[in-house]
Amino acid sequence: MSAQTVGGGTFAVGVDIGGTTIKAGAVTTGGVVSGEVVVPSRAEEGPEEVLSQAAGAVRSVLSATGGGGGTCTGVGVGIPGIVSTADGLVRYPPNFQDWAEVDVSGELARRTGMRVRTENDANTAALAEAKFGAGVNHRDFVFVIWGTGVGGGLILDGKIFRGPGGGAGEIGHVTIDRQGPPCNCGNRGCVEAYIGQKYLSQRTAKLVGGKDAAAEGSVMMKLAGGDLSTLDPAMISRAAELGDEAATRVLTEAGAMLGVALASVVNVVDIPTVIIGGGISAAPEFVFRAAADEMRARVLRPHRDAVSVSRALLGNTAGVIGAASLLF
Ligand SMILES: [Zn+2]
Repeated sequence: MSAQTVGGGTFAVGVDIGGTTIKAGAVTTGGVVSGEVVVPSRAEEGPEEVLSQAAGAVRSVLSATGGGGGTCTGVGVGIPGIVSTADGLVRYPPNFQDWAEVDVSGELARRTGMRVRTENDANTAALAEAKFGAGVNHRDFVFVIWGTGVGGGLILDGKIFRGPGGGAGEIGHVTIDRQGPPCNCGNRGCVEAYIGQKYLSQRTAKLVGGKDAAAEGSVMMKLAGGDLSTLDPAMISRAAELGDEAATRVLTEAGAMLGVALASVVNVVDIPTVIIGGGISAAPEFVFRAAADEMRARVLRPHRDAVSVSRALLGNTAGVIGAASLLF
């Protein structure tokens, strides 16, 4: 990627901090990304190390885009966990070691000398879709990010709705069965406990593994390299696309279970437009249809005709674009 893309215009650096990698890039006000870098996040080594990796990524982006003559308005950061709007602290991001409360904006500003804004990563992805992706024609929508876990965000009147504590939009933790399986959050029966990576791979492995001879030659077994515990939603989607029966069944059920949770969300907030991103956004259409059908069957009558479920458009650059958009 070259500096020319940014040349002359206004841009911000977007930083998408995940449990495994940190992605960063320069993003123009038109949503064009350049100078992208990916570095390990080293989340297992504690917040100091994560911040130092993030600051390094920002410096790499700036040096890759330097000389283009553009004006950098600052750095936007997306990160898992609840980001408080009152004090800017990032609290307990899941899968980050020794992390209680960290002032990510303050610490990164100190390390980079730039203005920094931080937001929950599902919210930044939702914002990216609102400004440049599947949400451009919708003032209000429910965003779901479905990958290893299930996150979400609410876009109201074109803006992120955070709630007073900054924790709004956690659709993955809507309970769909009070006696259901335990969830990572400590509750049981959350939609994430049914359709997150762990459940999907277990359920698929059970279906495929039940018939030993067939399992050997199954599309899924090949995609998983012989180890079904490594199955993730993207792999299961791929297998479904290739006609794998078990994958199709598991994903149809999962789509319907998400639809159950979404119907409750629609009944509460009266926003019938849903956009689904994350690893599953590449899944075949039937998954989205399963979610929409289940929603329609469960929402109150006035919402039925308005229900729509569509896939996100920005793929895995949504995090970087949305984080940078915090500065526009
Ligand atoms: Zn939960």
